[in-house]
Amino acid sequence: MRITIFGTGYVGLVTGACFAEVGNDVICVDVDADKIAALNRGEIPIYEPGLEGMVVRNREAGRLRFTTDADTAVHHGQFQFIAVGTPPDEDGSADLRHVLTVADTIATWMEDDKVIVDKSTVPVGTADRVRETVERRLAERGVAVRYAVVSNPEFLKEGAAVEDFMKPERVIVGCDDAVAREKLHALYAPFNRNHDRLISMDVRSAELTKYAANAMLATKISFMNELANIADRVGADIERVRIGIGSDPRIGYHFIYPGAGYGGSCFPKDVQALARTAHDVDYVPQLLQAVEEVNDRQKHYVFNRIRDHYAGALSGKRFALWGLSFKPNTDDMREAASRRLMESLWEAGAMVQAFDPKAMPETRRLYGDRSALTLCDSPEAALADADALIVMTEWNLFRSPDFELVRERLSAPVIFDGRNLYDPAILAGLGFHYYAIGRPPVA
Ligand code: NAD
Repeated sequence: MRITIFGTGYVGLVTGACFAEVGNDVICVDVDADKIAALNRGEIPIYEPGLEGMVVRNREAGRLRFTTDADTAVHHGQFQFIAVGTPPDEDGSADLRHVLTVADTIATWMEDDKVIVDKSTVPVGTADRVRETVERRLAERGVAVRYAVVSNPEFLKEGAAVEDFMKPERVIVGCDDAVAREKLHALYAPFNRNHDRLISMDVRSAELTKYAANAMLATKISFMNELANIADRVGADIERVRIGIGSDPRIGYHFIYPGAGYGGSCFPKDVQALARTAHDVDYVPQLLQAVEEVNDRQKHYVFNRIRDHYAGALSGKRFALWGLSFKPNTDDMREAASRRLMESLWEAGAMVQAFDPKAMPETRRLYGDRSALTLCDSPEAALADADALIVMTEWNLFRSPDFELVRERLSAPVIFDGRNLYDPAILAGLGFHYYAIGRPPVA
């Protein structure tokens, strides 16, 4: 099948590569000419396990092409996927500028029947706005073609995006047009061989499903962080509590890890956008507001611990920081907890020696000009003469370090762990002052 994808970010590029991988003919189009030039040189602008090989393989086979030329791209695809960003607007609502621009671009060039598929995360009612935009442009051009607008929100997880796309837990298709629904069924058939994972529904429910999923996951995290803060104050160990409650199958062990707060490009903006939607229809979303507030507070947790340890005297202190991406296996630093922490440390006059397995180029892009930041090329190098180690992302590489070496390299044996990676008793035995989230200190 012939597919056009607008947007070559985490979602668009993965979607394009995976559709090409199963034999489709895909053109990806982006307004970022540098990104397209890099992709045409075989360079992948983001880190995502398995993606590079897949893009190179399919590009060489001629099934995956990259362009800035919207005219050619629109003519190519029976399916026109919208996978552009929906960043938060000033009031927290989703900014639909890019989505509606793409809708207009599609309508500007389309000459034959198309299925327009919205993969971006968009508020309820966006499909109607896409349709209005397309209608307006087609009327202006005096062109009459058949088209459908389908909501097909994406559920891939950064860090496992290729795997998630190739073996989806579910594919949501929100569609009021039976012919378009059949076409989507056929398109997703290769990803459905084991059993049918396609869930059909109306467009509005599909749009809301994506927000519901992210809001539920964010709620689980904020709930555990709330409990961790209570555990701190009552002398309980949140890790024991986590294991205790996860054993109940109604609760389960997934996604109940306390930590330094959720980040990334999705949870923060999607919780806010859903809350905004609720306000717009005169409903006060108390739970969603609390989820966001708890997360915001949690992002200060590690810094507050550090500040208290040094009784506020942070000026001139030097910290080794392991982990910069918002979660492991990605180079994405959007809304990462590490950023809030670094910015607070710099404001207090401290210096940071940072290492991340994949996010160093992104850190350089964001903060390369800061004199209070040293980018290190290994976890060990980051430790040199630092007053303490801080861990902010649970990369596998950081799970079992050589603690003797850590102690030797640091100027004092202090660890602030924002992801509860280590055993407090073992670290106390090794002479460390170890701070975790919601865990009592071991003397
Ligand atoms: P991204 O910022 O990584 O990529 C968006 C791309 O769209 C950029 O390359 C940008 O240049 C391009 N673009 C903007 N306007 C364009 C236009 N008019 N024509 C062509 N290209 C254009 O974004 P992302 O992380 O891939 O997210 C895309 C959407 O998918 C968002 O709505 C997001 O909420 C949703 N989503 C993201 C994830 C994730 O894990 N990143 C998961 C599920 C859903």
